[in-house]
Parts: sequence; C-alpha cells; structure tokens
Amino acid sequence: MPKRLLNINVIIFIFRIGNLLMDKKLISWMGVAITNHDFTPRGYQLEKRYFSTFIKADDIAFYVFCPYTTLLKFVESKKAKFPKKLHWEGLHKIHFILHKFGVAPAEEVIAEIKDYERKPKLKEFRELAIKLVAAHKDSVKPNENVLEYVEVRSEALGVHEKIPLVIDNHPVIEYFVEMVLPPSYEDQLRLTLYALLLEEKFNIDIDYGFAEYPLMKVSHKIQIDSDLRKDAITKRAEMEKIIIEKKVDREVPVDIKKCNTCYYQDECPYWRRGKIQFFV
Ligand code: SF4
Repeated sequence: MPKRLLNINVIIFIFRIGNLLMDKKLISWMGVAITNHDFTPRGYQLEKRYFSTFIKADDIAFYVFCPYTTLLKFVESKKAKFPKKLHWEGLHKIHFILHKFGVAPAEEVIAEIKDYERKPKLKEFRELAIKLVAAHKDSVKPNENVLEYVEVRSEALGVHEKIPLVIDNHPVIEYFVEMVLPPSYEDQLRLTLYALLLEEKFNIDIDYGFAEYPLMKVSHKIQIDSDLRKDAITKRAEMEKIIIEKKVDREVPVDIKKCNTCYYQDECPYWRRGKIQFFV
C-alpha cells in the first residue's frame, strides 16, 4: 500500500475510534465486552453498573431465538402475543404447595374444588391437579426452603425478574404440559440468569437449576457452569448494544417455520422479507 494511503487510513481509523469513545453508552457496552475477556468466577463486579437498561430473563431467551425480538420490544415498544397458558397459574400453586407443605395440603386444596362436573375447564384443571399430586406423591416432603415468585433486581446485570420457584436455593423453570422436551439452550440461559440473580440477592453460590415437567414427573438438572455464565453475560451485552444502537448490525436469516412460532410475529415487519436488515 502506498505510504500516503496508509497514513490516511491510520487517520480515519483514529478518527473513528475517537468517535466511538465519545459515545459514553457504547463505552459502557464495550466495558462489558472487555470484562468478558478476563472472566472472574462471578463474571462481573456487583458494585458496577454495566448496563443502562433492564431486561427480564425471558428476554434473553427471545434474543437467542431471534435478535429482532430485542429490537421490537425495547426499541419499538412492540408487545409479544403470548399464548394463554391454561391452568398454569393454578398448577404452579399446587406444585409450590406440594414442595413446601407436602401432599396432604395439596390434596386439601383440590378437595375444595366444587361443582366441577358442570364446568368443563374447572374439571380439566382438577384432573391435571390430581395428576400433578400423583406424580409427586412418593417423592416430596414438606420443605421450608421453597420459595415462589422471588423478586430480584440486579443493577450490575441490568436484569429484573420474579423467579417463579426456588427449591433449596436452586431455580426451577416449570412446564405444565403433558409431554417432555430436552432442555434447550434458552432454558439454560434463563436458569443461568436466575442463578446469577439469586447468588447476588442471597450471597450464595449456585451450581445448578432445573427445567421441570411436573405433570410428567421429569426434571432436567442443568449445570450452571462458567461457560454458561459467560454466555449469559455476553448475550446480555449484545442485547444492550442493540437497544442502544437501535439496530441489529448483522443479517439474520428468516426461517418462516420459526417465524410462524414467534410470539412477535403479528408485530414484526421483517419476517415477510427474504432476509432481515435492521436499520431503524
Ligand atoms: S417473526 Fe421472525 S423475524 Fe420477526 S422477530 Fe419473530 S422470528 Fe424474528
């Protein structure tokens, strides 16, 4: 390369770096990226505030599914259309009672359900609740160390969450369906964020969590290792970058099958295109 051209390129490079450094928001994102390189056992310092926004653990699962969901929710204020999880709230309550107080109190709650023969939905709920108790009958004992809806807000991670179930300090994701899926990467990331939040709140170490299918008596134990912790923080940083820059700076191939299962599909203008280009 001619020397003069080389000098011009060097000047342009320095100018660009200068511009980047003037953007304080970007500096904060870069700070996280740098932190990731020399990862500490916890992965970050509690007293620092790395992010200027707050997300929920579910958002990181959506981000992994498609980065565009982050842009839709946090930049364009679009709302996902979640399917109704029929009976989930009631089944969670029975599941919580089973683990916290044991089988008898859960059966007493079910015995209080009256008039179910005339009400099909109530009847369906009762049948599932009975199935849930039967699945736990031989395995649960009253346990004081069971918590539900643990509210946690981490300034350092920029994450706030209500963790639905925590058993002996281990976070649990519940799926009240009559089938079992293998643990997904999204589950792993959600549980990792739950664990990071609980570690910060209670000043403890958490090595694993569970993705549980209570109706099917199946519980996947998920190890929360340093790779997952690093992944969760890196993905959090990538989400921050999208929110701050108001764009996803890479092409995301559109998989129509995936889009058809996406809760943001009704609000997403990009899935119809052959490819997605994000510049807002
Ligand atoms: S509809 Fe498709 S492109 Fe749009 S957010 Fe969902 S997965 Fe991404």
